[in-house]
Amino acid sequence: MSNRKPIIAGNWKLNKTLKDVFAFLAGIDGKLPSEDKVEVAIGAPALYLVPLKHHGDKKLKVAAENVYYKGFGAYTGEIAAEQLAAEGIDYAIIGHSERREYFHETDEDINLKAKALFAAGVTPIMCCGESLETYEAGKTAEWVTSQITNGLKDLTAEQVANLVIAYEPIWAIGTGKTATNEIADETCGVIRDVVRKLYDDATAESVRIQYGGSVKPETIEGLMEKENVDGALVGGASLEAESFLGLLKMYH
Ligand code: PGA
Repeated sequence: MSNRKPIIAGNWKLNKTLKDVFAFLAGIDGKLPSEDKVEVAIGAPALYLVPLKHHGDKKLKVAAENVYYKGFGAYTGEIAAEQLAAEGIDYAIIGHSERREYFHETDEDINLKAKALFAAGVTPIMCCGESLETYEAGKTAEWVTSQITNGLKDLTAEQVANLVIAYEPIWAIGTGKTATNEIADETCGVIRDVVRKLYDDATAESVRIQYGGSVKPETIEGLMEKENVDGALVGGASLEAESFLGLLKMYH
């Protein structure tokens, strides 16, 4: 536990219709904890960002699941950081392992996305995390150090102090296999030390680092007690209102 304000964010991935979005909002209505204690966000498909922002509880922050790094122009199918900013979208998840795997996103793309988001005034949630093979080879620290070092290239200390980083071991995503609280804390600590080395103590103490990978209402409390874990990025358990509220019950 630290002085940093925790941030619990859902990641709906490619799920839900607009009807489901409204049912979710009705389910959480008036039930979110105070903003003094925790920041709460939902990452949703682009189509639902505006309805979430307009119809959701004002305490609910909204996150895009992706963004393109170029501005307005001939890029059919893409969404620009300025568009997110203009609609008041608070965050954008970048570099999720599913985007890296299925859409071939590189560390360089992710770095460009971070820069475009900061320029527009949207906060990135920058994901990193290793495969099972890398984990079993004992190379997790090396892997995330490289991902984060590349992802932060040329960002200022002020930007990084406001950034959210999500450590998500790929072997724990959607598998029901959570990293132990100790592994999560250790790797989030490695990431904080990367920030310390690249910037300074103040920036490292300010950046918030989430853990993600099969986080459930039953497992989140122990995780949140860890010094280097400042929140969670949650897929499956964020889809239903009841389970999402369950992730927040320690803040009531
Ligand atoms: P999960 O997904 O909670 O379903 O494992 C986490 C994520 O991919 O962000």
